[in-house]
This record gives sequence, structure tokens and C-alpha cells, in this order.
Amino acid sequence: MMAAIFAKRAAQAEGRDPRVSVFDGAKKLGAKILIAGGGRCNVTHDVVSPADYFGGASRNTVKKVLKSFSVKETTAFFAELGVELKREDTGKLFPITDKARTVLDALHRAMSNAGVEVLTDHRVTNLQVREAGDGPRFMIQTSRGPFTADRVVFATGGKALPATGSDGGGYALLQRIGHSVTETWPALVPLVLQDGHFLTELSGIAVDAALTLSGKTGKALYRQDGALLFTHFGLSGPAAMDMSRHLRDYADQAPRKLTASFCPDLTFEQLERVWLDAAEQHPTRAVGTHLRGRLPERFAQTVLSRYLGVEPELPLSRLSREDRRALCHALTAMPLPVVGDRGYKFAEVTAGGVPMDEVTTATMASKQCEGLYLCGEVLDVDGRIGGYNFQWAWCTGRLAGRAAAM
Ligand SMILES: Cc1cc2nc3c(=O)[nH]c(=O)nc-3n(C[C@H](O)[C@H](O)[C@H](O)COP(=O)(O)OP(=O)(O)OC[C@H]3O[C@@H](n4cnc5c(N)ncnc54)[C@H](O)[C@@H]3O)c2cc1C
Repeated sequence: MMAAIFAKRAAQAEGRDPRVSVFDGAKKLGAKILIAGGGRCNVTHDVVSPADYFGGASRNTVKKVLKSFSVKETTAFFAELGVELKREDTGKLFPITDKARTVLDALHRAMSNAGVEVLTDHRVTNLQVREAGDGPRFMIQTSRGPFTADRVVFATGGKALPATGSDGGGYALLQRIGHSVTETWPALVPLVLQDGHFLTELSGIAVDAALTLSGKTGKALYRQDGALLFTHFGLSGPAAMDMSRHLRDYADQAPRKLTASFCPDLTFEQLERVWLDAAEQHPTRAVGTHLRGRLPERFAQTVLSRYLGVEPELPLSRLSREDRRALCHALTAMPLPVVGDRGYKFAEVTAGGVPMDEVTTATMASKQCEGLYLCGEVLDVDGRIGGYNFQWAWCTGRLAGRAAAM
């Protein structure tokens, strides 16, 4: 949609009016916009930097792309379409209507005003490149018959939530015309814990946590702070979702270990000091009572009795050194035996895709095929939770559309 709008706008600014058509296999465009951000669409984030993105692209490449359409320009673009955005405390930007529909309708209006033709229920099954001088360069085979085009912008997304139409079919089409596709895996996806793990009994409880992934030497490879939600299958919430893509990264560091700290600002030693001081100052206070002041009650209770086997009613002064240290370990580095993730059906984005070094950053033009442009999630760049993936789509879509029209 962004590519189509900006292709039309760029050409019209030069007094031309090429035909711009959007083909989509789905019956309606923009399914993900409607479900994004819990139906409110987290359009972007007030601060977007290359550090918010992962994948094979260099920081510098991502920076160049992000610079091409800043958050300020994105906000102004949506305002021009009639969508005012508001910033929430987390820095996420949502439409002031709190309705994703506002965003999707505005993009449709912009396409219609620019004269973009939308052909839904047209799944692209093949893209053939024809020799120069032989009429239009591309032959696009669709489920509704063939079309020709001089330029093609490829925006087929990844594999996350395949029911929306983004089922990864686009990768194969691109491979056929010479592109490569790196290994892909679900990202921003909930994590599954070992069957029967005690945390799965705490379904619905959220805590602030810092998740740390460490490698074979014990060195921390990645840390993710944020809300962690316990579910009947394992872990969800921003911290787990943001961590998910990293669990399959760092393959050379296997076996990797994931741990959670529920006192993210304290080291083991600092926390042990806190407990020693507490035992001195409040010797008769129950361990459970002391813990409940810091963590949700049911969580505190379960960690003590189920995980550590410590009686919650035990006075602080009678907590043995061994149990105190076990408790401090549990609170600063609890092992999380993740056995997998919930897969593409529950993922928000795909890690991996077409390497960024196969496109020219300034234009998103394919280096393998003249006249072809790539944008969005089909590329090997994925962002963290918070509006970053849409920002990537807005930036790259705009670059690709403009360049294709020029
Ligand atoms: C549940 C959920 C919530 C999300 N929430 C947010 C959020 O709040 N903020 C955020 O920044 N990101 C969010 N994301 C991620 C974001 O939606 C995507 O990163 C973004 O939509 C990618 O845009 P895209 O245009 O590259 O691909 P997509 O939006 O996936 O669009 C690809 C389109 O290509 C079509 N297509 C695929 N193959 C073919 C083919 N062969 N022929 C024709 N058409 C084809 C599909 O039908 C689809 O319409 C969320 C994702 C999910 C799943």
C-alpha cells in the first residue's frame, strides 16, 4: 500500500500517471494492520533506531533506510491522511481513535485518491522476467490470469500468521528469479516451557523481568527487560516475545541457557544483602510476607513452596543460608527450560528473509533483477515489539514505490 501510494505520488509529481496495481492473494488488503496492537495498530514508535532491528543487515544499512522516512515524517504522513497519532507511556504511537480500522481506511483512501488499482483475491503464482525490448519486462501470473508490468514491487511479507495471506510463498517466487533467502523462523512469538513446569500454573500473572540468554561459556549473549506473562503453555508478554528470535540465533554458542531475573536491577550479591538486612531488621517477619511485598502473591507463594520447598510462613531469621541463596538464585537467575515456541500461527513477525545486501538501500531495487523492488518483512530484517516492524514497512515501501515510479 505504501509502495503503491508513493509510486503514484512520485510519478504524478512529474506530470506522469502510470498504471499502478496492487495484487494481493487475500480477499482484503491489510489484514495485519487490523489485528495489530490488539486491534489498535501500533503504527510506529517515537524513537526508532537501528538497535531496534535484527537480522543479517548491518546497523548502517538499517540506519540509512530508517533515515529515509523518519518517525516525524511518518507521523506527518498519517496526519495528512487524517490519522492523528498519540504517544503512550511506552513510547508506542497509536491512532487517537484507538482503532486500527482508522489506519487501514486512511491507506485505502490514499490509494484511491492517487488512482491505485487494487486487485484482491489475485494470488501471484509466478513472476517471469522477459528480455529487454520484448514489451513489458515482467509477466505476472496470478490465480486470476496473467498481467504484465514494467516494474514490480515485491511486498509479500513473511510467514507469520499465515491465515492472513502471508504464508511465505513469496520467498519461492523470489528464489526463482535469483534471490536467496536466509533461514527463517518465527519471531515475536510466545515460548513453550517444559510440560508441567510450575510457571505454567501461574497463567495470567505478569511480572517485570529481565531475561538473559547465555552461551556455552556462561557469557550473556542477549538480555531483554520487560513484562513477562505466564501462560498455560509457558511464557508470553513483551519480554518473552522480544527474546524469542534470539533463542534460535547464536547457533555456535549451543548449548544456550535462558534465565529470568525477577529483580532486574539487582545482582545476586545485592539481593542477598537485601535479605540479610531484612532478616536483621524484621527477624519475625514471614519469608512469604517479605516476598509478597515485591512480587505478585501467587507467584511468590509458588516460587517458595513449589520451586524451593521453603515454607512461606518461616520467619526471616530462620531462613537457612542455603535456602536464602537458593531463593536469591531463583529471583535473579531462574532457569527457564524453553522447549520451543508457538510457531508462525502465533508469531507477529518472521526472522530471516531476503538478505539486505541483495537490494540497493537507497531504492530497495533488487540487485539480481532489474525493475524489481523489495520491501517490508520479506527482507531479512525484523524489529522488536513496539511499532518497529510497521516503521520498517512504511520506510521500505515508500522507498521502493518512489524508485519504481522514477
Ligand atoms: C498479530 C500481529 C500483530 C502485529 N502488531 C504489530 C504492531 O502493532 N506494530 C508493528 O509495527 N507491527 C506489528 N505486526 C507486524 C506487522 O504486521 C508486519 O511486520 C507488517 O505487516 C509487514 O508488512 P508487509 O507489507 O511486509 O507484509 P504483510 O503485512 O504480511 O503483507 C503481505 C501481503 O502479501 C500478500 N501475499 C503474500 N504472498 C502473496 C502472493 N504470492 N500473491 C499475492 N499476495 C501475496 C498477503 O496476502 C499480504 O496481504 C504484527 C503482526 C501480527 C501477526
